[in-house]
Amino acid sequence: STARIPQQRSNDEITDLVDRFNRMLDRMQEYTNQQKEFVEDVSHELRTPVAVIEGHLKLLQRWGKDDPQVLEESINASVSEIDRMKKLIQEMLDLTRAEQIEVNYVKETTQANETIQQAYNDFVMLHPDFQINLDDTIPPHTLVQIYRNHLMQILVILLDNAVKYSQDRKEINLSVSTESNMLTIAVQDFGVGIASKDLERIFNRFYRVDKARSRQSGGNGLGLSIAKKIVEMYKGTITAESALGSGTIFRINLPLASSKDNK
Ligand code: ADP
Repeated sequence: STARIPQQRSNDEITDLVDRFNRMLDRMQEYTNQQKEFVEDVSHELRTPVAVIEGHLKLLQRWGKDDPQVLEESINASVSEIDRMKKLIQEMLDLTRAEQIEVNYVKETTQANETIQQAYNDFVMLHPDFQINLDDTIPPHTLVQIYRNHLMQILVILLDNAVKYSQDRKEINLSVSTESNMLTIAVQDFGVGIASKDLERIFNRFYRVDKARSRQSGGNGLGLSIAKKIVEMYKGTITAESALGSGTIFRINLPLASSKDNK
C-alpha cells in the first residue's frame, strides 16, 4: 500500500500538514480500491451473457445449422443476451456519469409537479394493465433542486421496479408531498417485498435478491445504485421499507429550491 509520512507527536503546523496529507492518501487509496472493485464486478457481470452467446454459437457450429428449430432458438436467445448486454453497458455508463454529476447540474431546478405528472403519463401509456394512483398534494409550481432528466431517471427506475416485482396485485401508489424544505416522493407496490436482511444491500451495485428471477426480468442490479448515486449528488436521500410478501415503499427526499428561486 501507499507509503505514508510518519506522524510526530507534537502539536505544530507540520503535524497538521502530515495529517492532512495522510488523509488525502487514504481517500485516494479508497478511490483506487473502489475503481478496482468496479472493474472486477463489471467483468464478472459481462461474463454470463458472453458465455450464453458462446454456448449457443458453438451449438450451432456443431449441429444446429441444419435444424431450423435449434437455429431459431439459438438466434433468439443470443439476441436477447445482446439486448441485456446493451442495457448493462448503458446502465454502467449511467452509474459512472452519476458519480460525476457536474456542479452546473446541481444548480438546476425542476418543476416537480410537471415532471412527476409526465412520469405518471408515460407509465399509464406503457403499462395499461396497471393501476397507478397519483396522490399529489404539493403546491403548484413547486421547484426542486435537481436536473429534470435525473429526476425522471429516478422515477423510471422506481416505477420499473414496482412493475417488475409486483405479483397479482397490479397496483402502484405514487405520492408526492413537501415537508419544511424537502420534497418527498414515495413509490409503493404490493408485490414480492424484500426481506430485512436484503434491504440494506439492495442499493449496492449488482446486488439482486433473487438472481435468477431478476435476470429473467432483465435486471442487472444497477437501477437502485444509479438512483441512490443521483439522489445523493443532490444532497437527497433514498430509503426503502418493505415486508416480505406484501410490498415495498421507496421514498426519495430531495431539497426544494430556496424560496428565492421559487418565485
Ligand atoms: P434490478 O435491475 O435487478 O431490478 P435494482 O438495483 O433496481 O436492480 O434492484 C436491486 C434488487 O432489489 C432487485 O434485484 C430486487 O431483488 C430488489 N428490488 C428492487 N425493487 C424492488 C421492489 N419494488 N420490490 C421487491 N424487490 C425489489
